Amino acid sequence: MDQTKQDEEDYGYDLFPDRNPKDKKQYFAQSLFTFNHKCRVMLQFAMETSPYAKLLLSAMKNSGCKIFKDRHFSCEDCDGTVSGGFDAASSQIVLCQNNIRQQGHMNRVVAHELIHAFDHCRAHVDWFNNYRHLACSEIRAANLSGDCSFYNEAARFNFGLKEHHQECVRGRALRSILAVRKISREQAEKVVDEVFDSCFNDHAPFGRIPHSKKDAKFAYRDYANRDRYYANL
Ligand SMILES: [Zn+2]
Repeated sequence: MDQTKQDEEDYGYDLFPDRNPKDKKQYFAQSLFTFNHKCRVMLQFAMETSPYAKLLLSAMKNSGCKIFKDRHFSCEDCDGTVSGGFDAASSQIVLCQNNIRQQGHMNRVVAHELIHAFDHCRAHVDWFNNYRHLACSEIRAANLSGDCSFYNEAARFNFGLKEHHQECVRGRALRSILAVRKISREQAEKVVDEVFDSCFNDHAPFGRIPHSKKDAKFAYRDYANRDRYYANL
């Protein structure tokens, strides 16, 4: 789960002038269609251009878990301010079309959820019974998706310390767990702390923490070239 704060621009639907009910109904149906269409277009763009998404998609393909856009992604309306989620039962990534309004936000949500999908593919994750598994994947998703990259944090006016990235990752992992499981904050904190070091230092498949799009591009290039040296022997 990715409970992104409403930091995206407000499209101001609250301020839309009153219209008669018939028009309103039409407008509603039309806007649902528009949101769905926009969500699919932004998803396609993310899959083709975001280095985070491209790396994760090729890594999954190489692990035998090829992702199909129509089969494994679903643009839907969601409650509250949730941006997306990974449904392990159907191996589907849900993108909240009513809450994702900008390409940058879409790129981060796709990267975040693809990290869960990657973990689901490579390991036998017990999402429901083992909180340590869930915590580990949430730590990795917050750490590697750009959720806590400097730009995103700066946008939230959280300038600060060197350890800030770690604190951000810890905080976001906690929030994600509390959003999807009925456990106490103390219990969630304990689980996150227990697995933090090993999961924070597990950078697969990036090989580093991609703090920026540029880092992610380098990671993607290295990943794409990983066999080249041996191929030339
Ligand atoms: Zn998550």
